[in-house]
Amino acid sequence: MTDDEKAAALRPPADPLGDQFWQSLKEGRLTFQRCKHCGNAWLPVRSECPRCLEADWAWENASGAARLISWVVYHRAFHEAFADRVPYTVAVVELTEGPRMTSNIIGAGDPEALKIDQALRLVIEPDFGLFVPRFTPV
Ligand SMILES: [Zn+2]
Repeated sequence: MTDDEKAAALRPPADPLGDQFWQSLKEGRLTFQRCKHCGNAWLPVRSECPRCLEADWAWENASGAARLISWVVYHRAFHEAFADRVPYTVAVVELTEGPRMTSNIIGAGDPEALKIDQALRLVIEPDFGLFVPRFTPV
């Protein structure tokens, strides 16, 4: 599988909100949405607040600070495009602003040393033609 084939296979589906999210990452910002009605903040992008279902929201920039909620270490690649990366860590992280997201932990060395609630910071990396939000221990 060539890098172009990997990029095509992994590209998120075209979606106006998703496109704005990915464009912000390309500009070096991780964004999330916050409801103007109830104050809830969330990821991934969607057109209505998942708490109150209002469609009145605004984009906000994440500070990049987060904490580790949970993780797994993949020893078999989820997709053949990631076969040369095993083992790699897939994690749920919680941004300081509240939203939780699925991401990767990078630069952590031995994944056995990771700790629940561990402080993390955002690293935006180019990968397969996108800019991808990942996290590293502080
Ligand atoms: Zn709401």
